[in-house]
Amino acid sequence: MTLPNFVNFSIPDSIRFEGKKLNMAICGLGRYADILANGLEAAQYCQVAGIVTGTATKAEKWKKRFNIRQKNIYNYQNFDEIKNNKDIDLVYVVLPNSMHKDFVIRAAKAGKHVIVEKPMATSVEDCREMINACKKAGIQLAVGYRLHTEPFHLEIKRLGQEKVFGQVRLIESSLGYVSGDPTEWRLRKEMSGGGPLMDIGLYCIQSCRYVSGEEPVSVTAQFGPVTNKKLFSDVEESITWQFEFPSGLVSNSSSSYNCKIDRFFASADEGSFELNPALGYGPYKGKTSQGDLNFPTINQQATQCDEIAKVLLANKQLPVHISGEEGIQDMRILHAIYEAAETGKKVTIPQIHHPL
Ligand code: NAD
Repeated sequence: MTLPNFVNFSIPDSIRFEGKKLNMAICGLGRYADILANGLEAAQYCQVAGIVTGTATKAEKWKKRFNIRQKNIYNYQNFDEIKNNKDIDLVYVVLPNSMHKDFVIRAAKAGKHVIVEKPMATSVEDCREMINACKKAGIQLAVGYRLHTEPFHLEIKRLGQEKVFGQVRLIESSLGYVSGDPTEWRLRKEMSGGGPLMDIGLYCIQSCRYVSGEEPVSVTAQFGPVTNKKLFSDVEESITWQFEFPSGLVSNSSSSYNCKIDRFFASADEGSFELNPALGYGPYKGKTSQGDLNFPTINQQATQCDEIAKVLLANKQLPVHISGEEGIQDMRILHAIYEAAETGKKVTIPQIHHPL
């Protein structure tokens, strides 16, 4: 399908791929890897050629499904041997957040391009190490931001950045779901880096940034509502925060593991635009003050992986707004939000200068 032309990493039609596909190894075969698998089955420019897993039954299932050669199946211990495997161009890291750094650096040292799931890591320092390792190895690093190639999101980005309804003044963007499994790694800070903010609050931050085209300059934040102290003893259950942007735009967002919410609303000088549902897996619904937004529901993972694959197959540079530099900026912002909630004070956010 053709994406709205606001997609700024599309490769010109004049480049012909002639059936060539980027070969990916999926590292970590959990729930999101299953969703990616459906996307990769539908993808045109990439395919699953390898896997990295610690579970024999999963290896067997994926091997059959994607016709993977036995020599392209790795475990977490022998993963570094992927260096000598010409069948694999890229490793897609879909492990718990605290494991991202190690596997991205190992993949980079093996000379493979990397996509790492969001959040890029759990600390700014780890993100920096990952970026440096990828630079040193001369490979490209992308963060798995699936909404940068999604038509409704490309449209709200265009509406905001091109000021179609004038200057955006106010944004509300929130995402929450109910999570009740006490054994889940997401509830252990050491593995997740934090609660719903790290996990899904990131989508709220991203949408505020790419719709405004601005970086937040400061943040205030509050933990709550708190309804289950036992389950959420290590990470927050819910959090709400407010950004101020250089133009005077103000945003308010919540992310939660105990409240269902999934919406985006922007109020501008001459109108408004919104998505509801907005940030989960969709299907999305959108409208502006002038009428409905109509775009096809796409396979987000297929489109995201195809767009990345086309850039890499064409030997071009991936755009900065899905790069490690974007991942590290989100990490700075995530930690600024936590600091604001913990101290009760307004926290200043370091500014960066790259296109959103
Ligand atoms: P999951 O728990 O379902 O899968 C994690 C995988 O890691 C499992 O296969 C597990 O066996 C493996 N693993 C290896 N060592 C482990 C260890 N020590 N502890 C726990 N698991 C271990 O998690 P998930 O929901 O698939 O999330 C994986 C990553 O994908 C996370 O970074 C998450 O933020 C990201 N994610 C992204 C999206 C998105 O929309 N882009 C959606 C969901 C998850």
